[in-house]
Amino acid sequence: MDLGIKGRWALVCAASKGLGRGCAEALADEGVNLVITARGAEALEATAAALRARPGAGDVRTVAGDITTPEGRAAALAACPQVDILINNAGGPPPGDFRQWDRETWLKAVDANMLTPIELIKATVDAMAERGFGRIVNITSGAVKAPIDVLGLSNGARSGLTGFIAGLARQPALASRNVTINNLLPGAFDTDRLRVTMTGTAQKTGQSIEQVAEARKALAPARRFGTSKEFGAMCAFICSAQAGFLTGQNLLLDGGAYPGTF
Ligand code: NAD
Repeated sequence: MDLGIKGRWALVCAASKGLGRGCAEALADEGVNLVITARGAEALEATAAALRARPGAGDVRTVAGDITTPEGRAAALAACPQVDILINNAGGPPPGDFRQWDRETWLKAVDANMLTPIELIKATVDAMAERGFGRIVNITSGAVKAPIDVLGLSNGARSGLTGFIAGLARQPALASRNVTINNLLPGAFDTDRLRVTMTGTAQKTGQSIEQVAEARKALAPARRFGTSKEFGAMCAFICSAQAGFLTGQNLLLDGGAYPGTF
């Protein structure tokens, strides 16, 4: 299926590894031109080289920097001739106990997982509406629907973003101009990030990481972790020409782990 986005420009944040990279790969396969960012230049350049080698890939540009800073965002935006597709992503906050978190810790989480995507949307969304095409996907977390005890910073900051997006996506000035904004909620995906959170749980509970991993897999009827490829494929579809009527949604990819009907 041709997703109808060949030649569009996408800014994919935090894309040298994991879920962001999965999204960049799927968009590259559709012939979308990419600006990818990450903090570490070495991993970023290696990912860019791999993306350029994919059949059908378009232009791939890199911006090394912290997307949660004004400088990092400005550099990322400057590298992209126009942002038709925006994939908001950044590292998740650390696990822990809220009794140990001070105001600075909270502000860092809110900055990274709520205000950074809002700033990038603010910088791009009106031009998308003027051009009559825009796709924004925020990588949030299944923790928005079913909070995870040790990830209180994520539960809180991402829920703030989710509430804001629910209102913004429904503005007729955007939705009637073919600009969609959706959130993609990962359950457990096999990435570096998952290993960090499982290490936190292991330390808290005294189990081995292998025990934590098996228990975590058992929580999903799929009995496995998701892959970045599966995540990227869903992201690319949300960014497709065909998905123009899908907006303001929270799409959970979790192998059936969330037990609710809706
Ligand atoms: P990952 O650690 O595998 O990859 C993170 C990527 O983001 C890397 O490329 C890293 O360089 C980049 N990055 C991190 N902080 C950055 C910053 N400030 N500026 C620029 N680049 C930055 O992580 P992942 O598993 O792909 O997770 C992506 C997001 O999804 C995170 O916010 C994570 O909390 C969330 N999430 C992941 C899972 C999961 O199971 N993997 C589940 C729920 C939520």
